[in-house]
Amino acid sequence: HAKHGFLETICFYDANIGATVRNRRQLAEDLRRALERGELEIHYQVQMSLNSSQGIRGYEALLRWTHPVIGPISPSEFIPVAEENGLIASLGAWVLNKACEDASRWEPAYRVAVNVSAVQFMDTNLPRLVHEALVTTGLSPHRLELELTETALVKDKARSLHIMRQIKDLGVGLALDDFGTGYSSLETLRTFPFDKIKLDRAFVGEMEQDRQSKAIVRAVLALGKSLDIPVLAEGIETEEQMEILQQEGCDEGQGFLLGRPSQVDRLIQHGGPVQNEARKPAEPTRKMA
Ligand code: C2E
Ligand code: MG
Ligand code: MG
Ligand code: MG
Repeated sequence: HAKHGFLETICFYDANIGATVRNRRQLAEDLRRALERGELEIHYQVQMSLNSSQGIRGYEALLRWTHPVIGPISPSEFIPVAEENGLIASLGAWVLNKACEDASRWEPAYRVAVNVSAVQFMDTNLPRLVHEALVTTGLSPHRLELELTETALVKDKARSLHIMRQIKDLGVGLALDDFGTGYSSLETLRTFPFDKIKLDRAFVGEMEQDRQSKAIVRAVLALGKSLDIPVLAEGIETEEQMEILQQEGCDEGQGFLLGRPSQVDRLIQHGGPVQNEARKPAEPTRKMA
């Protein structure tokens, strides 16, 4: 479009921005309806021990929404929409309750990890919600772990710390999600009482080709050891990555190689392990270093 005048250009962008805002509001409306109608689903992805004890440690709850017109939308797209439109409280509460309810029917050895968004962490009474979810479902607190990202915590440290302590007092675990991608990851580890570090998959994915990434993975594992906080590596996709992580003493792993996120029926049906095209996680024949 060669000959747009200034005003035309402004109008063009204005119209576009308007459409984007309307779309997001419409999306939020659709999401609200989906929540009311019970059209949201949770898929679970296995988290496995990588050291000598091997085996399944638990499952991460991952929200799934298939929009009637658009089709499947990623939670990394619709969670921010829910945060902007005051939906995250009810959405977050739903996920928490549903995940605890599902997990209460699993093998008691398996825990469930639930993601908590920054807005949900700050704006809802999370300790009370967690307590209520545990009471209603009868899930034992040590089987629940909440995954937080750094962005949730940095705005108000004192308050974050207070909320985290209350949650830990319930006996619930706290994992630092996407570790390494934040602005002050080390400060976060020093300040807040995390029970687990989830190393972001960006580092795991680059490990084989990129010396820097591998060095960072090694350093994070060493850090975890000296702080006495177990490290889980996200996004393991290849045998090679798995071997490197085991060699380097990584405690736990998660990724498409070990199991894709899948529906709860399939978990229950098989007494826990996710059966899928990628791999059966609990296969006793699997050789581990
Ligand atoms: P996350 O918590 O870091 O979750 C891991 C994401 O990586 C998931 O994407 C998972 O499907 C994907 N993943 C797992 N293994 C692999 C792998 O080997 N390779 C690759 N390429 N990806 C892998 P998903 O399900 O699309 O979720 C994206 C993000 O949305 C999550 O990142 C989390 O931050 C957020 N999210 C998902 N469910 C919820 C929820 O119930 N509540 C909140 N607040 N956020 C959620
Ligand atoms: Mg997570
Ligand atoms: Mg993550
Ligand atoms: Mg993430």
